[in-house]
Amino acid sequence: MRVAIAGAGLAGLSCAKYLTDAGHTPIVLERRDVLGGKIAAWKDADGDWYETGLHIFFGAYPNMLQLFKELDIEERLQWKQHTMIFNQPEKPGTYSRFDFPDIPAPFNGLVAILRNNDLLTWGEKIRFGLGLLPAIVRGQKYVAEMDQYSWSEWMKKQNIPPRVEKEVFIAMSKALNFINPDEISATILLTALNRFLQEKNGSKMAFLDGAPTERLCQPLVDYITARGGEVRLNAPLKEILLKEDDTVRGFLLRGLNGAEDEICKADIYVCAMPVDPLKVMLPPPWREIDHFKKLEGLEGVPVINLHLWFDRKLTDIDHLLFSRSPLLSVYADMSNTCKEYANPDKSMLELVLAPAKDWMSKADEEIIEATIGELKQLFPKHFSGENPAKLLKYHVVKTPRSVYKATPGRQACRPEQKTPIANFYLAGDYTMQQYLGSMEGAVLSGKLAAQVIAKDYPAEKLTPSSDISYLLPVTSNP
Ligand SMILES: Cc1cc2nc3c(=O)[nH]c(=O)nc-3n(C[C@H](O)[C@H](O)[C@H](O)COP(=O)(O)OP(=O)(O)OC[C@H]3O[C@@H](n4cnc5c(N)ncnc54)[C@H](O)[C@@H]3O)c2cc1C
Repeated sequence: MRVAIAGAGLAGLSCAKYLTDAGHTPIVLERRDVLGGKIAAWKDADGDWYETGLHIFFGAYPNMLQLFKELDIEERLQWKQHTMIFNQPEKPGTYSRFDFPDIPAPFNGLVAILRNNDLLTWGEKIRFGLGLLPAIVRGQKYVAEMDQYSWSEWMKKQNIPPRVEKEVFIAMSKALNFINPDEISATILLTALNRFLQEKNGSKMAFLDGAPTERLCQPLVDYITARGGEVRLNAPLKEILLKEDDTVRGFLLRGLNGAEDEICKADIYVCAMPVDPLKVMLPPPWREIDHFKKLEGLEGVPVINLHLWFDRKLTDIDHLLFSRSPLLSVYADMSNTCKEYANPDKSMLELVLAPAKDWMSKADEEIIEATIGELKQLFPKHFSGENPAKLLKYHVVKTPRSVYKATPGRQACRPEQKTPIANFYLAGDYTMQQYLGSMEGAVLSGKLAAQVIAKDYPAEKLTPSSDISYLLPVTSNP
């Protein structure tokens, strides 16, 4: 069957990939001239890449890792040492590490925490451990119930000293959802902690070896088109057209550069756009249906991704760093971490600015100036003295609405991929799946959408390469 999918982010492309495996024919319609949505990247006039976001792949991403395997591109993931590295603001230019030894979970995580004495005292670690006990003992059910609290509220409820939040969880919260602990739902951090503690390599990190559009999205497109599917750029969905029974009649595509609008007809339709444009585009008769009505509770969170090229090497650390600075979240020297961006003589820092709400309307120059101010704390040696590091160039990428803002109560607003409309499905990191707003969540949501479509509309003839066992989602321990 022909399936029209709006949106060529990871969710739309993964949905199309798994639909071809199930013997269907997807046509992916992307609004922009670039693949990847929130993992999109561009080349500047010098041939240097800049990206929507600094992206990290975790060992606890089974569906993503399986996708790399199925596309035969596993070697493109550059795995780093199993450690988490935090800057120490009170000792500028120094780092505190959580090193995970090569022993089974949860012991590797416990040893990593117990061995680190820079950030937390023994008393704080013990009180944190005791506070976490219900999550460890009662598992995912308890974690889901904690969506009623912010992380700060949950810590208080569990009698965990406020310093634990300040030292570790402001950084974690900003890294996971670009907001602070007093805003983020406790479910988000508890879910991440559970995965990191229960899976031996759950917190192990990898960088892609180049720009995500070329190194991950393009192989997906090649896979889809080689099996009869299609991916069209510059094809924005303008309106979802309905039949009299309120099922979908077609996707109306906006004609660009003076071209006429066009109707894309298919047997089945999938929306893999972010939740914010979908909310605007919902046909009026659907707005009263609970499945769609609850989308009102979801909204993308602003974030800014910065790229700064310097005249020298600032660090040789080949890993993600948690800045623990007021303005910034995580960052990495991509000239060390990413093969395609490698440079032995000059650093290219990619940094996430979060929370970004108050910075979205500011000029790029002002944002860069504030960032350099913080870099003086992170790399004091290179930004003081007679010959400070020189900024050669920069790119600032603002995303006003990125992943859904995971404040308390949002879990109840996340819709299933199957909707009450017979020929219409949803995919996207915001839809209900166990991985929150992330690349893993996006890939899994696309796979789940393909799975329900394959169940509701089994393909008449499977091609020899079709194997719908792929469509069973790979889950990990909750
Ligand atoms: C700064 C930043 C850092 C991040 N870091 C990480 C990380 O380290 N690890 C991690 O796992 N995740 C990270 N994420 C999150 C991750 O990028 C997203 O969760 C994931 O890529 C979302 O995929 P998606 O397909 O659901 O949505 P999107 O990527 O948003 O894709 C939706 C697509 O729909 C298209 N579209 C919109 N409107 C229309 C229309 N009218 N017609 C047709 N198409 C339309 C969009 O152009 C887009 O291509 C980060 C995100 C950001 C912004």
